[in-house]
Amino acid sequence: MKKPRYDLLIRSRTAPESTNAHRNRLVPVLRAIVRELTVEGATFAAGSIAHDGSEGRSPRVAGLGFTPASVVDARMDEYDLVVIGGGSGSQVATAAAERGLEAAVIERGPLGGACITRGCVPSKALIHRADIAESARRAESFGVDAALEGIDYGEMTAAIHDTVYEKADRQEASLEDAENVALYRGEGRFVDERTLEVDLNDGGDAEVRGDDVVLAVGSRPIVPPIDGLEDADFLTSDDALFLDERPDSLVVVGGGYIGAELGYFFAAVGTDVSIVGRSERLVPREDEAVGEVVTESLERYCDVYTGYEAAEIGENDSGVVVTAEPSEDDTDGDGVDLEADDLLLATGRRPNTDTLNLEATGVETDDGEYVVVDDRLETSCDGVWALGDIVGEQPFKHAADYEAKTVSANLLEDADRAVDYGAMPHAVFTEPQVASVGRTEGELEDDGREYESTTVPFDAAPLGMIMNADDGFVKVLAAPDGEILGCHIVGPQASTLIQEIVTAMDGGGTVDDVAEPVHVHPALSEVVYAAFDDLSSSEFSTAPDWRDVGDG
Ligand SMILES: Cc1cc2nc3c(=O)[nH]c(=O)nc-3n(C[C@H](O)[C@H](O)[C@H](O)COP(=O)(O)OP(=O)(O)OC[C@H]3O[C@@H](n4cnc5c(N)ncnc54)[C@H](O)[C@@H]3O)c2cc1C
Repeated sequence: MKKPRYDLLIRSRTAPESTNAHRNRLVPVLRAIVRELTVEGATFAAGSIAHDGSEGRSPRVAGLGFTPASVVDARMDEYDLVVIGGGSGSQVATAAAERGLEAAVIERGPLGGACITRGCVPSKALIHRADIAESARRAESFGVDAALEGIDYGEMTAAIHDTVYEKADRQEASLEDAENVALYRGEGRFVDERTLEVDLNDGGDAEVRGDDVVLAVGSRPIVPPIDGLEDADFLTSDDALFLDERPDSLVVVGGGYIGAELGYFFAAVGTDVSIVGRSERLVPREDEAVGEVVTESLERYCDVYTGYEAAEIGENDSGVVVTAEPSEDDTDGDGVDLEADDLLLATGRRPNTDTLNLEATGVETDDGEYVVVDDRLETSCDGVWALGDIVGEQPFKHAADYEAKTVSANLLEDADRAVDYGAMPHAVFTEPQVASVGRTEGELEDDGREYESTTVPFDAAPLGMIMNADDGFVKVLAAPDGEILGCHIVGPQASTLIQEIVTAMDGGGTVDDVAEPVHVHPALSEVVYAAFDDLSSSEFSTAPDWRDVGDG
């Protein structure tokens, strides 16, 4: 950290156990004092907090340094590294601090970012409960006499809310207590390429400068321009996760993974759900065969309108009316009016780059306002890095964490490490689950790439058959020399089953590398084994195929 020099320094020594939050709370107080100060008729410029003062780097000292107003260059807090966004970005700050550097994190909301309080964790907590309800409903088909007596919806969402916010609070506390990390609770925006002004949540402001800066401000739901939406009440995923009461009916606009997951959840807990999706299938970015299974499955839970888009939103006495029209000229069918208590918009997310005043920097963005980075995740400005949803490559938490690791290595160790998304998996937690890594068949066809493909259904393996997972499958796409090009799984535990393929692809492995190791019998991983064995070079197969057992 560069040591600031001041003409006048006001310092306040805080108690040894005080945290960054305590120190940050001193800033507005000290600023208010200084605004009243005059020396020889000159009003002093409002300075900024100096965690250091002139006595080394003790994080236990708060203070303000000031220069006379006539000196234009007002002082600020200086760090080796400033991270904007306390989701995955905060991992770069803690990695820097562990190496003895001084880092700052600027975060306006709960620590942990979207994943902990608005995304992955609460949505999967809800879906886990939906799965439990589903198991009770299906118990009879396994000869088990179970009844679903009811769901205390408000209690369920309150419990999840408390759990995730407690986790965010603990994350905040641990960042505050970390040596060499200062936490600024507020919204940051660039003043110049290295300097950020922060509107502090509890009043006042601060100016923070970093030798390096990491942008990690995430994304937010898109609110599309639909006629009548401006006068209607609607939910986005930000508000739909913690409702006190379950809506009796719901229209979900958007058939991507968030719309499909939340559509499944609400339907499974008893809401009458309609999903309007613009494409031919739900989850249209998945391999076509996967999208078909998910669409057919969700049609058992919801009214699914694929090939439709919301054209107009109106209201009636009991709630909302969504007029959905065929989205393509060649789609058969007329417009349809869907009435429901509530409307959930799940029409994609946009990067929060517009909050940053990037115009004050040379950081370039693309047409979608995603930050343009090189393969080391450095932006068009030297020493300014970006990661996570604002990069737009893979809008998933594990991708943001992987990028945080890459930025840490490049920024802190000059590792010159390039990101490689070739083995980046993702999952969709619908019923059945989806997991995928690598290319889809459609992408390979578009690329004109030569490939072999096999699809093995879950009921080829004993456990798949026992579980009645007859709509699930493992699909493998491989090059003629055995290189794994893609794998797409739909069925129970797909999100876990994909992992061995990710490991193989990450190591540059071939289908033989998945088919050769022994798989536990009678686990569902035997379906993965059977699919890879089908394309492997092995002459001797022990892969199960229970579909034929007992036939002639
Ligand atoms: C409903 C839902 C379900 C999801 N489920 C999954 C899942 O199952 N698996 C998965 O991998 N991913 C899932 N995701 C996606 C995942 O949450 C994101 O990809 C991930 O959180 C991105 O991390 P990030 O660090 O880029 O952004 P975030 O985690 O969003 O962190 C960015 C932070 O920056 C802060 N910020 C923004 N602007 C400013 C500013 N100007 N100043 C200060 N702070 C600012 C925000 O408050 C936020 O806390 C889901 C998302 C949603 C919405």
